[in-house]
Amino acid sequence: MPEYNLRGITVHFPHEAYNVQKAFMQSVLQALHEGSNALLESPTGTGKTLTLLCAALAWRQVFDTRHRMENLKEQNVYQDENLKKKMEEAISSHPELENWQAGAPKIYYASRTHSQLTQVVKELKNTIYKPKVCILGSREQLCIHEDVKLASSNATRTAMCRRKVASKACSYHSGTKEAKSFFQGEGEIMDIEDIVSFGTKHKACPFYLTKDSQLDADIILLPYNYIVDSTARKAMNIDLYNSIVIFDEAHNLESCCGEATSFELPMSTLRKCVQELKACQSAVVPNMSDSGLMSQSFGALADLLDRLRTTIDQIELSYSDELIKPGIFIYELLNMVEINSSTVGYLQQGIDSAVQVLTSLDSSNQSTFSLSNLSNALRMIFRTEYLVDDDQTFSMAHTKFYKVHIQNIKTAAGVSERQLNYWCFSPGLAMTDLVNLRVRCVILASGTLAPLSSFASELLLKFPVRLENAHVINANQAFIAVLPKGPAGTTLSSTYEQRRKPAYKNELGNTIVNFSKVVPEGLLVFFPSYAVMADCISTWRSTNGQNKSVWDRLTEQKQVFVEPKTKYEFSQAINGYYSRIKDPAFDGAIFMAVCRGKVSEGVDFADGRGRAVVVTGIPFAHSKDPKIVQKKNFLDDIRSTCTDLSQTISGNEWYQQQALRAVNQAIGRVIRHRNDYGAILLCDERFGNPSIISQLSAWIRDYVKVYQNFGEVQTKLTKFFRDMKHDGPSSTSDATRLERHSSAHTREAAFARRPINLGGDDSEGSGPVTIRNYNPRTTIMALNEYSILRDNQIPKTQREHSGSDAKRGVTATLEEAQAYSTEIATLGHDKHRQYKQIVRQFKRKEIGIEPFIDGLIDIFIGENRLDLLRRFRIFLPHKHIQLFDRVLRAQELIPDNTDVAEISHDEFQAKKRRIE
Ligand code: SF4
Repeated sequence: MPEYNLRGITVHFPHEAYNVQKAFMQSVLQALHEGSNALLESPTGTGKTLTLLCAALAWRQVFDTRHRMENLKEQNVYQDENLKKKMEEAISSHPELENWQAGAPKIYYASRTHSQLTQVVKELKNTIYKPKVCILGSREQLCIHEDVKLASSNATRTAMCRRKVASKACSYHSGTKEAKSFFQGEGEIMDIEDIVSFGTKHKACPFYLTKDSQLDADIILLPYNYIVDSTARKAMNIDLYNSIVIFDEAHNLESCCGEATSFELPMSTLRKCVQELKACQSAVVPNMSDSGLMSQSFGALADLLDRLRTTIDQIELSYSDELIKPGIFIYELLNMVEINSSTVGYLQQGIDSAVQVLTSLDSSNQSTFSLSNLSNALRMIFRTEYLVDDDQTFSMAHTKFYKVHIQNIKTAAGVSERQLNYWCFSPGLAMTDLVNLRVRCVILASGTLAPLSSFASELLLKFPVRLENAHVINANQAFIAVLPKGPAGTTLSSTYEQRRKPAYKNELGNTIVNFSKVVPEGLLVFFPSYAVMADCISTWRSTNGQNKSVWDRLTEQKQVFVEPKTKYEFSQAINGYYSRIKDPAFDGAIFMAVCRGKVSEGVDFADGRGRAVVVTGIPFAHSKDPKIVQKKNFLDDIRSTCTDLSQTISGNEWYQQQALRAVNQAIGRVIRHRNDYGAILLCDERFGNPSIISQLSAWIRDYVKVYQNFGEVQTKLTKFFRDMKHDGPSSTSDATRLERHSSAHTREAAFARRPINLGGDDSEGSGPVTIRNYNPRTTIMALNEYSILRDNQIPKTQREHSGSDAKRGVTATLEEAQAYSTEIATLGHDKHRQYKQIVRQFKRKEIGIEPFIDGLIDIFIGENRLDLLRRFRIFLPHKHIQLFDRVLRAQELIPDNTDVAEISHDEFQAKKRRIE
């Protein structure tokens, strides 16, 4: 097994590591050495999980060894001087591993789902490392009790389990103690299925076996919410002190944190709570502990909750049928019915007792109790962490992250009812818990974190270690194209206004028909939402006179599968698609799915399963959704009170980034390993906008090419797959290499200056939103914004000897850089900030040269600014000068055949006036 010395640590890797994998491991080790948080993006297919595991376990092993050696040294075990010297040398070779006295930190490795954790176990088995592993799951996955496992909800299952454990009525729980001694001793690293088999074989409870085994474990695998949700953390006895917390697939962390700290309570739930309490009241409850019920009977609790419901129902709403209040209002609201920090304990006890009673009454085990939901909501509001002293005083600092929202909603049955929402808009609230718990470091890894700066600022943590990794494939293994127009020349744009037009839908359908003729095996098509997908499919199915419908022509090429919403139908559809791909009698298949759906999030389409991915639009969330509106307002409010704008993100920036992350996630379905290949076809003109390109994953950005001519794409796509079939993915034939906007034609297309509507896709009647900013977030760790100027300085004397260079404006002196910076600062705060951001992004390779130049043009278009744009040329690296000139010409900012450096200020002004 190959080994690598990275940052002084020997890392064993199961195969020859690619450079990107080594770079990734270096970053992990840096974070671990320094005890710093890390934000690491690496494309899907680059072996993130394996590299994370190998680096973290190698580091932990060294830490552990040093800990043991120091202990031996202290006990003066070694009498032999030579041996002692060697041991001291070994110890001093890792001075960075301070705090060794505390023992090696535990690694908490979190992923979103248990199927992803099963994948982690598989990867772990491929390494040389044999740590003690604990995998935490819920009773839903681990309970083996014949009745309890059949319960309809996890809340019911938990209540049933607790009752059986308390009354010693579960034989599996009784058998756990005996089985514990050999649970970890059977050698193999176990996944959930193995643990359930072990429990069944030894008649021991898998849930309690794993929960208890975390104490001795070196690495604990668990779903995200066990870490970010304080209630789950406590229930599972998770102790994060001095631990390393790794979040894999961390792009979902923001929403997971939001869910863990928010709730939505429809009044029908409160009504059901009242009914449940009344059912308890009339039931005979033998042998029940009455400590909580001595003071308040079930009947009194029912009255209390009914008063709460009436109070909420009677609140006057605004003309827009909603009420929005600061987070602190939740305490005022609950206090109206005397639910406060002094009384909530009794209420909670009463609810917990009622749930136990209901569980004992429910012979079917199929009931889900609304009281359990209410109990969770109360725990969230009155978290004991917010208590500041013993007399039940609460700190209200957290409420600034919240909004109370009351609205009238329509239920699935079409009935109108009121709903209380308590929304947390900062995922950072959950993450700062980790800081308070004194976690050693937090590592976030995903294929789609970009832009990293905004991700970091949302989480309210400092991430000194950052990486945006390249892909493991050669450039010629991916064909990446933006198609602003379809085969008939109709614009492809999935904005709300455009996507309802039959002409657009037919053009999109014909585009996919054309692709299906040249893409071999599997073709994935992603839509912005289920509604858009259904609408397109319905239009494509309808016939047009004598002509075949789009659907008929599609199915003549390949069988089409459509992503369903239910779990059962989903596995049927995906299995049908896989088997059709494998069947040589057919020419592959098409899978139509939605961004943010199951397919785009977690399904692997390696090799033939996904030879091309078509993205038909940008999946903006519904812009009028109250939660989206409030989140945007929340971010804008923070920004308006913040002195350092680079540490904040505007509502619109967040809105756009969310949509682009979903696109990146969908794109990541294809090209899953070093020898894979595939095409990425972005069929919406908005993808050609540089501000959109700059938010695609780093490995794609520089290779995106905008084609104005559909025929050209079709020809190149055909050739791409032909070359891949004949030469294989390792070929580096120039003919098949990806080009980086290399032709003037493409460049002009990419830099077309006409305004593009980036409006919210799912917004019924929403107006266009024009977004022109470039990756607008920066960080404390950003490089000095002016360093691009300094990097290109050469001594003046040298420049004076190089007359032609000076004339072409290749270099700048320090004085020129300083003078230029001073002038930029006079453009006003917003422009200056925009300028600093884009320079930083370019320096940090977050954007390529082309979006960078286009961003500069955006900043400098306007009164008296074109001269500054011209002068920026002297600060550019020599290799970019020609491109800079060509782009300005394509924008008609300078006449053809004129050297940019030679244009006078007046000429620029005249040009500018003509353009404006
Ligand atoms: S103790 Fe274990 S097996 Fe028994 S009911 Fe609880 S989770 Fe199920």
